[in-house]
Amino acid sequence: MEDISLRARVRRMVQTGEMPCEETGKIWAGRGVGTHCAACGYAITPSEVEFEITLTSGVELRLHRGCHDVWREECEELSARD
Ligand SMILES: [Zn+2]
Repeated sequence: MEDISLRARVRRMVQTGEMPCEETGKIWAGRGVGTHCAACGYAITPSEVEFEITLTSGVELRLHRGCHDVWREECEELSARD
């Protein structure tokens, strides 16, 4: 997985509001079930950890643990810039 393009993709999704920076508190972690990750687009296999986030809009995001970390990092960077 290429980290730079993933980061750029996540940043764009944050900016467009597809992956808004919000703390819903509704985050579940579990084994992947083959769902495609919202950030990188690759399947989250049963050998990987899947993060499931329910946004306030009701939209569910499923992310790899690593992709979730990138998302949080981008959000922290964004809030530090304001
Ligand atoms: Zn991913």
